[in-house]
Amino acid sequence: MASEKTRKTIRADILGFCMGVRRAQEIAETAAKNFKGTRIYTIGPLVHNPKVLEDLNQIGIKTLNNLQDIDTKEISDCSFIIRAHGISPAIEENLQNRGAHIIDATCPKVKKSQIKAQELARKGYSIFLAGKANHAEIEGILGYAKDENSRPSFCVTVENASEAEKAAQELYKNASNARTALLSQTTNSQEEYRKIGDAIKKYYPNLEIVDTICAATSERQKSLRNLLEKAEAVIITGGKDSANTIRLYEIAQKSGKPCVLIENAAEIPPAFFNYKTIGLSAGASTPDSVINEIESRLNT
Ligand code: SF4
Repeated sequence: MASEKTRKTIRADILGFCMGVRRAQEIAETAAKNFKGTRIYTIGPLVHNPKVLEDLNQIGIKTLNNLQDIDTKEISDCSFIIRAHGISPAIEENLQNRGAHIIDATCPKVKKSQIKAQELARKGYSIFLAGKANHAEIEGILGYAKDENSRPSFCVTVENASEAEKAAQELYKNASNARTALLSQTTNSQEEYRKIGDAIKKYYPNLEIVDTICAATSERQKSLRNLLEKAEAVIITGGKDSANTIRLYEIAQKSGKPCVLIENAAEIPPAFFNYKTIGLSAGASTPDSVINEIESRLNT
């Protein structure tokens, strides 16, 4: 085993909480102070990280996975925090109409995508949304794609280039002159987005491509690649169901270097204490406290 004197831990230059998640957590903590003693829920998990959810629970903020789990009569006594992913305006309005107190922690970058989808839909555009169909961010943006009379516009979710080409072909059969636009889930890769755009352009060469990708994901991936050049082995920390954390782990695996995905210091495999240089990276939903805990465990 390398002693703590010879073992070196190197952090990725950019790791852990992104701006939107940090902001959402701060908003939640402020709500816990301001509305102490009342019932506060986040609509869905604030982040995909068990430690963060446990900490929120400690300060009185519960995760609500399904709005139906709340008794209708009790809704007006509760505060609901919209997480960084945002929600559909129909759900928000529905809660407001029933007297709920809404605290909006939608990431400003996601809000920009929602507003853009709304603008395009009102101008009569047919919209392609590059992302995962059941992802909360996409479901929220879809809710904004309504025309002037609040009727849903043509808005289809495509996960990859082949789905995009099929969807464009279908639309073209009925609306070859449609004005089309493409928006992306903020966490998509630029490369995948470009391929999706190219596939739609086969049918709609004038496709308007809106840049809605957030750099937070690619910055963490780039920092990890740099880290892999310096470290003997790498630890990725974050929720095991966090998509961006899993992506970091996949990049580390592809490098061929020993790597592991863990949620806390107790999960560090004993073999990792044998390496002299250990790289540390973390997904955008990993709090500083977990990163610090792992680093100090490696350094003791
Ligand atoms: S990844 Fe980007 S868009 Fe998503 S919450 Fe973080 S800062 Fe906002």
